[in-house]
Amino acid sequence: MLVIHGGAGSMSPENMSAEKQQIVREVLTKIFDAGYQMLESGASAMDAVETVVKLMEDSPHFNAGRGSVTNAAGKIEMDAAFMDGKTGLAGAVAGVKRIKNPVSAARAVMERTPHVLMLGEGAEMVAREAGLEFKSSAYFLNKTKDGEKGQKITDGWDPSYELSPHKYGTVGAVALDKNGNLCAATSTGGMQNKRIGRVGDSPIIGASTYARNGLVAVSTTGHGEFFIRNAVAFDIAALMDYKGLTVEEAVKTVLAKLDKQGAQGGIIAIDGQGRPAAFFNTRGMYRAFKDASGKTRALIFND
Ligand code: ASP
Repeated sequence: MLVIHGGAGSMSPENMSAEKQQIVREVLTKIFDAGYQMLESGASAMDAVETVVKLMEDSPHFNAGRGSVTNAAGKIEMDAAFMDGKTGLAGAVAGVKRIKNPVSAARAVMERTPHVLMLGEGAEMVAREAGLEFKSSAYFLNKTKDGEKGQKITDGWDPSYELSPHKYGTVGAVALDKNGNLCAATSTGGMQNKRIGRVGDSPIIGASTYARNGLVAVSTTGHGEFFIRNAVAFDIAALMDYKGLTVEEAVKTVLAKLDKQGAQGGIIAIDGQGRPAAFFNTRGMYRAFKDASGKTRALIFND
């Protein structure tokens, strides 16, 4: 079982063209199906999660990797986290500027170092040691360049999308594989116009990302400061573990708590039996999962 998200935000049927909606649904479906196929063929939850998050990082439709938003200095600073529910090990990177796929760097921190969270230059050293690809800032900013040149933006990127502080496009995935292993990962460019050096919730284990076999895997998107303060991903796991809530009840309970604080965002999760949950308190959240009939559902709004 697999659930992916491509960010929650103020996208609505009124401010998003039918063409753009169609493109996003197609992209989400394609990426989801690639990961789902992997799991069907016996791939590990870790490999499936890393693959789908990488595909979303490579797409300019999401605020992660190539599509990352810029900070107040017009620069890219990306955050990502990766957690293995089987071992409880986790890795994360914050403020990285040149790594093409921050999610793979997060996994490399988990697998190649004794640490959990690595920052900037040190994180990039681990990525280099792991043989990961690096890109210049032109790669991450190329969507803007296309716009400036007045070229047709063939990838469907809407330049106005990245300007709003209320549109979040972080990506994430949660998976359960055939061996009962859970994995979660999240990757983001953070919030548009964030202060230089600001780190959001995405690379914080227990805030945006958490996985524990037999219990739950969680990835979130939204106003990161609230998600850190509320330890959202761990809170969901704790509600299920200590109080016996179902995954749906736990996600909804935490969203209601965020709601009261005026915090906006969305959450995806899968429990130890493969039951999915995907809820948000924004106008929309890019997401994809399998419905009860086994059909891939790629959704944007409350439909
Ligand atoms: N949670 C991310 C952050 O605060 C933003 C997002 O979800 O789009 O950095």
